[in-house]
Amino acid sequence: MAQMYFYYSAMNAGKSTTLLQSSFNYQERGMTPLIFTAALDDRYGEGKVTSRIGLQADAHLFHKETDLFKKMSELNEETQHHCVLVDECQFLSKEQVYQLTEIVDKLHIPVLCYGLRTDFLGELFEGSLHLLAWADKLVELKTICHCGRKANMVIRTDEHGNPIAEGDQVAIGGNDKYVSVCRVHYKEALGR
Ligand SMILES: [Zn+2]
Repeated sequence: MAQMYFYYSAMNAGKSTTLLQSSFNYQERGMTPLIFTAALDDRYGEGKVTSRIGLQADAHLFHKETDLFKKMSELNEETQHHCVLVDECQFLSKEQVYQLTEIVDKLHIPVLCYGLRTDFLGELFEGSLHLLAWADKLVELKTICHCGRKANMVIRTDEHGNPIAEGDQVAIGGNDKYVSVCRVHYKEALGR
């Protein structure tokens, strides 16, 4: 039976690399995967999933208004797909997470979602909240803090490397950087 998976982590845990490896595994077995990734700005067109180790693949972009179940049903009429992979799944809306469950339950296609669990304020993203609630399988992809402990938090820093403690959940086009740290060093960085 098809299932929905949520692979979650902090930044730089190799989520996109893992997604692309899964996609490759499906193709190697003669199956056809389909990749979605978030459109963070208003550009329409084809997207790409790229990993830090140099792999990349074409992806369909999802926007706030994209009905993923409808889109997948249409694409599936042209070509039978065997798996749906979603990158940047933290940016899914509640409705879109539900639509993904419909792909699993009605089209019987497994859906594998990859994304961040929490933002730089330590709060759940909308997509992650509903994936934690509705996915069949939760899988943590681990990365480590500079101290060697597991990093489960993300710090946003400005261009000088200073931690930022407030602001919008998503910063586009700025010079902000993200660093994954353990909870102890997250609290320390934010002076808590
Ligand atoms: Zn640490």
